Amino acid sequence: MNEEMKQKNDSIKFPRTQPPGRVYWCWDISYECNYRCSYCRVDTWRKTRYISVDKWAKIWDKIYENYGSTHIRFSGGEPFIYPGFNELLVALGQKHTLNVTTNLSFDVNEAARALAPIADRARLVISSSYHPEHVKLQDFIDKVLRLKENGIYTSVSIVAWPLFMKEIPSVKKAMEEKDIQFQVIPLGGQFFNKYYPQGYTDEERELLSWLSVNVSNKASKDMFDFKVNEGDRKTKKRLCRMGMNFGMIRPNGDVFRCCTFDKRAYLGNMIDGTFSLLEKPAWCDLEQCFCYKAMIVGEEEKTERDWNWERHKTGLYSVEKKPTNEEIVAEYEEIKKRGKTLQVLLDNCDSDGAVKLLEQTMAEFPDNELPYLYLSEIYIRAGFFAEAKELLEKASKFTNSEWAKGFYFRLCGYLHASLGDIPAAFEYYAKSLKISEDDPYTWFHVAKTHMKTGNINGAVEAARKSVLLNPHITAAVDLLKDLEADIS
Ligand code: SF4
Ligand code: SF4
Repeated sequence: MNEEMKQKNDSIKFPRTQPPGRVYWCWDISYECNYRCSYCRVDTWRKTRYISVDKWAKIWDKIYENYGSTHIRFSGGEPFIYPGFNELLVALGQKHTLNVTTNLSFDVNEAARALAPIADRARLVISSSYHPEHVKLQDFIDKVLRLKENGIYTSVSIVAWPLFMKEIPSVKKAMEEKDIQFQVIPLGGQFFNKYYPQGYTDEERELLSWLSVNVSNKASKDMFDFKVNEGDRKTKKRLCRMGMNFGMIRPNGDVFRCCTFDKRAYLGNMIDGTFSLLEKPAWCDLEQCFCYKAMIVGEEEKTERDWNWERHKTGLYSVEKKPTNEEIVAEYEEIKKRGKTLQVLLDNCDSDGAVKLLEQTMAEFPDNELPYLYLSEIYIRAGFFAEAKELLEKASKFTNSEWAKGFYFRLCGYLHASLGDIPAAFEYYAKSLKISEDDPYTWFHVAKTHMKTGNINGAVEAARKSVLLNPHITAAVDLLKDLEADIS
């Protein structure tokens, strides 16, 4: 977190300290829409309370004072037909991060001009829905590309309506060929005398299942699993953080804990100023939970994963905002510096201090593989192989630095050698040395692994290389001394 953001967070009146560490809103700003899709389930009869952009800006400034930078996901209806919607986005996008679900029927050229001040993926994402009953595929793709050309990140989804399901793979192909992130939303509700999503035929279900893991938007799988596989799940009374870290805002300003109109989940009205978030988790006894991202107490790891909080907690989509090369280099240098402190702590047998330093570093640089790698090395040394393997898997998802890739391969070799799989260990060492032939640590591990197989000559040769490259690695120097004493 940068200093400026930290200072801001220190001045927040009621900061959210429990997972996911930030407030998320879903704001159905109006249920009015210029389309009439066959599968639409929006309550168009519910009234919208229209207030000016200035009044909304004041309300959201107050929310910023109370809870800090929050994340607002607009939906409806069609949000862009709300009067002054572009101006509202620009006003709110100064302090909060925004995502808008839209049918993209608005004038994209005008929006690109109006939204220029917040045209940054770190602030604004457009989640557009392609509705084939109303717009041609190519026209829709052209609009998405127009927004993207203007720096407005735009993804696409489609509702899996049975009448056009067979076309979805070709729509997916057309989108992904243009590098447009694509997602399929299972249908919900009563249609053709069936209740969906349970009403899908086996063939449709199979296609949906395939799409859920093969489309470019990975959120699809969680949604599919919840809606299609567990869609009629009944739940028992449970303790939930929705209402504390999440609010569902309706077009008349009413706020509920989650996607319901049930009075038991009512939190007050945002326009009337009668609303506040809960300050602690609360029991929920609603008969059915429709939220696949419910923030259930005891499922914190899932909550953090579902809400992507590492990306959002600084008020920016920090992962998706590509850092500059200089920023990447500076980050690696900083973490490597801490790696040296870590070594000192380990040399002094202060494993608690070492783990604490690594945890701090992980929290500070959540998208960097180095802290995971350092910690996995500690685990391998301590014989916690399953934990080390898990961390290595996490680290493998980041590929920012060649140096770190070499480190990763070396540790994979070390882990396999420790588990007795010597051929695999040597394969990994070879990959590591291909990246950095002069890495004394990898040569040290090669020497140790040769010793396991009784190849003393190979061990001596590798240990000599290690010491030649860096005469200050005490373990390598001692190893070489022992080996040379053995063969003399
Ligand atoms: S665009 Fe969305 S809100 Fe509008 S009619 Fe279609 S499904 Fe309903
Ligand atoms: S219905 Fe689900 S998401 Fe809503 S408060 Fe209850 S448990 Fe949480």
